[in-house]
Amino acid sequence: MMQKEMPRKYWHNLPEASLIAPLAARAMQRSSMMIAQPATTPLRRIPATATGTLAATAMTPTGPQAARGVIGSLLALKDATMRCRECPIGEHATQSVMGHGPLKARLMFVGEQPGDQEDLRGQPFTGPAGQLLDRALEKLQLPRDGIYVTNAVKHFKFELRGKRRIHKTPTQREAAACLHWLDEEIRLVQPAALVALGATAARALLGYAVPVTAERGKWFRRADGLQVLVTLHPSALLRMPPEEKEEAFDDFVRDLGQARELLRAGTSL
Ligand code: SF4
Repeated sequence: MMQKEMPRKYWHNLPEASLIAPLAARAMQRSSMMIAQPATTPLRRIPATATGTLAATAMTPTGPQAARGVIGSLLALKDATMRCRECPIGEHATQSVMGHGPLKARLMFVGEQPGDQEDLRGQPFTGPAGQLLDRALEKLQLPRDGIYVTNAVKHFKFELRGKRRIHKTPTQREAAACLHWLDEEIRLVQPAALVALGATAARALLGYAVPVTAERGKWFRRADGLQVLVTLHPSALLRMPPEEKEEAFDDFVRDLGQARELLRAGTSL
């Protein structure tokens, strides 16, 4: 092998030359020892199972017992998504990021997928897009802690550019693979209405593509009867040219204002 890389006549020039003879002499013995050792399992940050099956999610009890059941079910959901590898995204993310907010929140906001910061922190909407969403909610006097926020896709999809992890939009197939986790989350939280932030969320929630720019600020009805308000994802506002940002923010606040009206009306649409 070594002679293939460098002819023997040059070996004496190498600084490691004195080590070659004893290493070569013990090569056979070392190879035999390595072959005799048992195989090792590759280290993974999060152990995967074949399907990431969700544990029991019984919902029949009522009152505090039911609340404990829902919390347990949400934790089970988190655990199951941590292990999920139903699409390739889960293999590379730090962890799955499930929703955050009160049980039985009347409004559930659904974004696309966790970003770089959310992936590290394990909480949705904690990066720059989340801060913009906070500003919009503040302007509407809608307390964030009264809203359940989550994403259609539970793991962070990215591409590496140098040391930076750059967001990459999940494919339709990946979003479809993740849909049953979102459906389970909706079933547990039981919101009165949903807000789709961006095209991926709108497609996941409604089952068909919605031209978000044209249809923003409108309510759609799902097959299960839940209403979905469609608007842009806050990260789309962050990417706009500076001179357009203020107007775009006002439009975003206007869209979300419809969700506030729903809460004020005190009934589902
Ligand atoms: S993104 Fe969704 S479907 Fe894909 S591995 Fe993660 S939890 Fe599973």
